[in-house]
Amino acid sequence: MSNQKKRSWAEPYKIKMVEPVRITTFEERKKALEEAGYNTFLLRSRDVYIDLLTDSGTSAMSDRQWAGMMMGDESYAGSTNFYHLEEAIREYYGYKYVVPTHQGRAAEHIISQLLIKKGDFIPGNMYFTTTKLHQELAGGTFVDVIIDEAHDPENEHPFKANIDLDKLESLIKEKGPDKIPYVSFATTVNMAGGQPISLENLRAVRELTQKYGIKIIHDMTRVAENAYLIQKREPGYENTPVKEIVREICSLTDGATMSAKKDALVNIGGFLAVNDEELFDRARNMVVVYEGLHTYGGMAGRDMEALAIGISESVDHDHIRARVGQVEYLGKKIIDMGIPVVKPIGSHGVFLDAKKILPHLSQELLPAQSLAAAIYLDSGVRSMERGVVSSGRNPETGDHNYPSLELVRLTIPRRVYTQAHMDVVAESVEAVYENRTEISGLKFVYEPEYLRFFQSRFAVV
Ligand SMILES: *Cc1c(COP(=O)(O)O)cnc(C)c1O
Repeated sequence: MSNQKKRSWAEPYKIKMVEPVRITTFEERKKALEEAGYNTFLLRSRDVYIDLLTDSGTSAMSDRQWAGMMMGDESYAGSTNFYHLEEAIREYYGYKYVVPTHQGRAAEHIISQLLIKKGDFIPGNMYFTTTKLHQELAGGTFVDVIIDEAHDPENEHPFKANIDLDKLESLIKEKGPDKIPYVSFATTVNMAGGQPISLENLRAVRELTQKYGIKIIHDMTRVAENAYLIQKREPGYENTPVKEIVREICSLTDGATMSAKKDALVNIGGFLAVNDEELFDRARNMVVVYEGLHTYGGMAGRDMEALAIGISESVDHDHIRARVGQVEYLGKKIIDMGIPVVKPIGSHGVFLDAKKILPHLSQELLPAQSLAAAIYLDSGVRSMERGVVSSGRNPETGDHNYPSLELVRLTIPRRVYTQAHMDVVAESVEAVYENRTEISGLKFVYEPEYLRFFQSRFAVV
């Protein structure tokens, strides 16, 4: 009998169609990087060899999903695909009411406008860029109540997305429960390195917030990955299927925003899901103003069908094991090279610790932005800054926010790249690391008002 424990995570699919990628020369990359103002978001994808910018909308769909696309019912109202999507969300996540949106931030916009009043405070487990911005645009102030361990890249706490109950209760007592419309927590926490929250912590948060009559709104972008890490790390869940853990997480919350472009294996889409009928009615009315009719939101019928199928595939054990397994494979390789990364390795990417890799650059010299540019220049591997540039400015003082984590994210798209691609990425990171003392810092030469990391331009200092 074969011993399953001895088997590695090999991809649970075979390849039916290929998309060629282009290997560029150093001179071509140098030119492309200059033209992009040293911002990897401004590179053209044809100049990129292995694209680890993001896992957002970059998944490969399955043959079942593509078949579903052909079953698109593009009726303006009451599309059959909407009802399939609603059924999938009820079955896999357990939320009662669904408002489709074009992507996650549209759902964040709606829920923020509906629940936040000017002067409110919204506690959360570290921030996410768009989530926080929508809370601020609605007149609220985001307050980080994540455990301290999350800010330390070396700390190997298994659940670095956990909420610090003391920080949360102090905030509730200081501001008053009527100033806190909801707790905003994410599965997993992207900015902390793709780290999970435990069910034990979530249950405690539920108990505490119930005492004060405060809702919980769940950013469920990577809930299946979080559930898989619970199965691996939380005592008592070793034998619970990921599908059941996902349902249990959702059951401890009042509603959710979803960027379906991540866990749910589609290239575009999202939704808001709630259990409260009155809140649903208001959200369903608002989506008509900003997105489209409530049975398609911002999506085509075919996209809703692909999403309904993607949701079921996302909780499949073989899929999620290989997905996280591939990320861990790359992470372990980079750790073995002695290169500082956020530990433990998260579920959707490997986060390089730019502060430690480039100690000669102070945070004003944008170490993570500089490191991402250097990796691109070396090999055409595209990564993303998650540091001072992503953190933006303090809306009151106008100063840069200086986060304790200054990271470069190597984000792995789902079902897209092979193990050999991961090897090339690790080799490039190692080559850049060996020449790290030669990497110069960057300065802003153009900075837009919102979510500056997307469109800022830089120059070498
Ligand atoms: C991507 C993402 C969002 C925003 O979703 P979009 O679909 O990109 O609008 C929100 N929260 C988290 C944690 C994300 O990763």
